[in-house]
Amino acid sequence: MGEDTIFHRIMRREIPADVVYEDDDMIAFRDISPQAPVHVLFVPKKTIRGLDAAGDEDAELLGRLALAAAAYARREGFAAKGYRIVMNCNEDGGQTVFQMHLHLLAGAPLGSFGTP
Ligand code: 5GP
Repeated sequence: MGEDTIFHRIMRREIPADVVYEDDDMIAFRDISPQAPVHVLFVPKKTIRGLDAAGDEDAELLGRLALAAAAYARREGFAAKGYRIVMNCNEDGGQTVFQMHLHLLAGAPLGSFGTP
């Protein structure tokens, strides 16, 4: 399960965000603290605490999140140059908002990651 988060408030339009994509399953908006020239978060509308809380029933939704990010990258013209998608999970993964989301990072060569 999950709880109400800042991303739920963005989905309910209670707080503003720079929304770049939305459909029945998800919303995508620019990260407030971008780690790359392009930093967009893809967030499912279904409440799911994080990847660790996702189940088999969420397999299609997870695929849709990744494909929506790929489609956005193509639309915006940086797919061929490249990008990175990341999901942080729980404390050691660096998750700070406990509604599952995928980060799309692009716009410059990205450095190494995953080091403590
Ligand atoms: P996490 O660390 O959970 O993987 O990622 C959470 C992300 O949400 C962070 O990159 C953080 O900058 C972003 N974030 C936190 N609060 C807000 C907000 O109110 N608006 C937007 N647009 N992004 C936020």
